[in-house]
Amino acid sequence: MTARKKPAARRAARAGGTSARRRVFFFGDGRADGRAEMREVLGGKGANLAEMTRLGVPVPPGFTISTEVCAEFNRAGRRLPAAVKKDALAALARVERVMGMRFGDAERPLLVSVRSGARASMPGMMDSVLNLGLNDRTVVGLAKLADERFAYDSYRRFVQMFGDVVLEIPHKLFEQRLEALKDVRGADLDTELTASDLRGLVRDYLEIVEEQTGTPFPQDPAEQLWAAVAAVFRSWENERAVRYRRIHGIPALWGTAVNVQAMVFGNMGDECATGVAFTRDPSTGDRHFYGEYLKNAQGEDVVAGIRTPQPINKVSRKEDSARLPTLEEEMPRAYRELVRIYKRLEKHYRDMQDIEFTIQNGKLWMLQTRTGKRTTHAAVKIAVDMAREGLITREEAVRRVAPESLDQLLHPMLDPEAPRQVVAKGLPASPGAAVGRIVFSADDAEARAKAGEKVVLVRIETSPDDIHGMHAAEGILTARGGMTSHAAVVARGMGKCCVAGCGTLRIDYAKGEMQVNGHAFKAGDTITLDGSRGEVLAGAVPTVTPELGGAFSELMRWADRLRRVRVRTNADTPHDAKIAREFGAEGIGLCRTEHMFFEPNRILAVREMILASDGAARERALAKLLPMQRGDFAGIFRAMAGLPVTIRLLDPPLHEFLPHGEEEIREVVQALGTDAAVVRAKLEEVKEFNPMLGHRGCRLGITYPEIYRMQVRAIFEAACEVAESGVKVQPEIMLPLIAHVGELQRLRALIEAEIAEARKAHPQPRVKVTIGTMIEVPRAALTAAEISRYADFFSFGTNDLTQTAYALSRDDAGKFLPEYMEQGILADDPFVSIDEEGIGKLMRIATLSGRTTRPGLKVGICGEHGGDAKSIRFCAGLGFDYVSCSPFRVPVARLAAAQAEIELAGERRATRRGKRRS
Ligand code: PEP
Ligand code: MG
Repeated sequence: MTARKKPAARRAARAGGTSARRRVFFFGDGRADGRAEMREVLGGKGANLAEMTRLGVPVPPGFTISTEVCAEFNRAGRRLPAAVKKDALAALARVERVMGMRFGDAERPLLVSVRSGARASMPGMMDSVLNLGLNDRTVVGLAKLADERFAYDSYRRFVQMFGDVVLEIPHKLFEQRLEALKDVRGADLDTELTASDLRGLVRDYLEIVEEQTGTPFPQDPAEQLWAAVAAVFRSWENERAVRYRRIHGIPALWGTAVNVQAMVFGNMGDECATGVAFTRDPSTGDRHFYGEYLKNAQGEDVVAGIRTPQPINKVSRKEDSARLPTLEEEMPRAYRELVRIYKRLEKHYRDMQDIEFTIQNGKLWMLQTRTGKRTTHAAVKIAVDMAREGLITREEAVRRVAPESLDQLLHPMLDPEAPRQVVAKGLPASPGAAVGRIVFSADDAEARAKAGEKVVLVRIETSPDDIHGMHAAEGILTARGGMTSHAAVVARGMGKCCVAGCGTLRIDYAKGEMQVNGHAFKAGDTITLDGSRGEVLAGAVPTVTPELGGAFSELMRWADRLRRVRVRTNADTPHDAKIAREFGAEGIGLCRTEHMFFEPNRILAVREMILASDGAARERALAKLLPMQRGDFAGIFRAMAGLPVTIRLLDPPLHEFLPHGEEEIREVVQALGTDAAVVRAKLEEVKEFNPMLGHRGCRLGITYPEIYRMQVRAIFEAACEVAESGVKVQPEIMLPLIAHVGELQRLRALIEAEIAEARKAHPQPRVKVTIGTMIEVPRAALTAAEISRYADFFSFGTNDLTQTAYALSRDDAGKFLPEYMEQGILADDPFVSIDEEGIGKLMRIATLSGRTTRPGLKVGICGEHGGDAKSIRFCAGLGFDYVSCSPFRVPVARLAAAQAEIELAGERRATRRGKRRS
């Protein structure tokens, strides 16, 4: 009798704790040493095989050698520890008993599969060996049990697989022999070969092995087994797997488990089949059982695509399988059992499952269950449906959808089924897809779009001058620039697809050509962009626009109830503000006023202001701009009725507004009646060596206070005008690039004085203006305690903060930063996800010290990171009041903020529990 375990020991056992020394885990006949929660030890596949066995699902018996052995194996010079072999043999004996067959037996030979199975799914990256245990003797026994053709077909598949995976003999040597035999026999398909053909083929294959290795093919099944187990452990280190791990951030330390399992056969005759199914439709999320199968086939035949698989039921019928009979019709008993099992599995795992099954002589066996991959559309629908069915909570439903994946729902995507010829890769700067004819200038883009053509704007880099072309284009492609370059930021704001920093592009504007990786394109040629993957494709690839259904809105409602952090948007026009509001924005976190200055009808007045020779001339030019700005702001206040609107005063260096090229200079000279020499002299005067660190941001307000005064007046008057029409307004004025408290102190006084002055003409008590600052320079973050004395709010400009604290140009990083990710120096692009150890530290210091001086200081973020799920989690942890992002990211941010809150609440609960215990 065994002593009853103490509760702690039982808990540890459940978590696999006492199993630390156990390295081989048996499963079969309703009993299993492992369970679903033991993924770390058993890998995903092993854990699920154990769990299915416990549930009473028919699973071929087997055993899992744990992931720990993988590390031991590699440490011990790629040798299997003797104790592991001993335990494996004991487990194998149990498998033999369950199956009533013996490994290596000449009469009733047990065959096994040897498969990898890591903690995280790594599809197709590692190796497997099937039909192991066959040799010249056992094949005869198998032939008697089944039939001769089947037995020799299995043997030749085994020798080939073992030869390839274990003995590392080039696959093609076997394939060539098979093809030669088919030629001689005039056979198109393998299935046309006879038993004696296959017997001859096996002999050939055995010869190939001997020729290539210098030793005969191992006939001892135990020797085969240890060699195959070793090969699977070795495959954890193969190039494919290492690359996959690097891309998906899977630690090398984890290792793979090895699953050794009794073979069952779907290819033994017409009462046999093999198939895959999903417990719900993986592309629509609809609640119906969906899958396909092949009669008289092995699993690999389903994937090989030689025969058209049959639908398992009517709803799974596709165009090419419409006439084929279903499993439900052909094998109703097995189908009914499959239905019973899939329902059980889905209920147990409380998620959509992807299952693999085999039917051997009418008996159903389950080979695998795992969480099924799905489209975002399906993910949202399944999560909402399952919560409604009571299978999961609403909180779980919210957690189940990856925020980033929502992008797929909000933009057109390339048809996943369509062939794609990728000619170059850049940064996935703004998601979605675009198909159009190449244009190399913003003016061409506008002109051709007006004529009804779809165009893709291709530029070395974009500047504010290109806005109209970007607007007109379907998508934007640049050779230079990172994730926060002008092209990237503006395209995201417009919800347009953009591939930026595609360094291999060679653009010749003069010739109207571009070269890329050996392909040449001319203006007018059609290309396709995949902004979600950063790919450039030749020709037109069809796109699909997913629909936003009721499930999406429902999930968003649940997310909104769970989150604490508010979500605002970065928008500069009433149009963008309106879109963002439809997506659920709760205000504007950043209105960049400079974008308004580039409108064709006002750029001249801006240039006049900059070229002005004295204060009076500047005031005259500003007087022209005032009513235009007032109109802009009024439109935005109306679009955001009742919600806060943060307007940032002018930020970019003045030279950005000045004419470029002779033609533009001529235009300015003519319009303003000045001299070309004056314009050129001014151009020279404002030229800077390092404009991003030069005369920009609040420095403009310090040196040209009249510009900021005009903007403040326009904001206040617009607010009064809108408030008078009965709409609630909440203007917030924000200063850019503050680095020293003195700058803020002075500019705050200037703003307050201007408002006081303006109030005399508009005594509108309902308009209250708050004044805050961006924190986008390290010095501002470090001196936030002083700065907050003059700020009603902080908004982190993490684009510039990353640029300035990292000394990393946001417009040039695209050239070399991808290499940093490839070499593993950085896990993420710091312009996409906040660099928590560096930039994040500055943000923490600034938030804490700002709130020490001014408790309750409102804190938000308006850099591009405000739409990145990981960064939102970080900001929520720092106690931010809001995040602000481009309109199309608003739903992503709402979901990410809800998930952040759920995670934080979990952490708080764990801390409380920890405190109670200590
Ligand atoms: C920033 O720097 O993060 C920011 C929001 O401002 P801009 O991108 O306009 O420089
Ligand atoms: Mg900035």
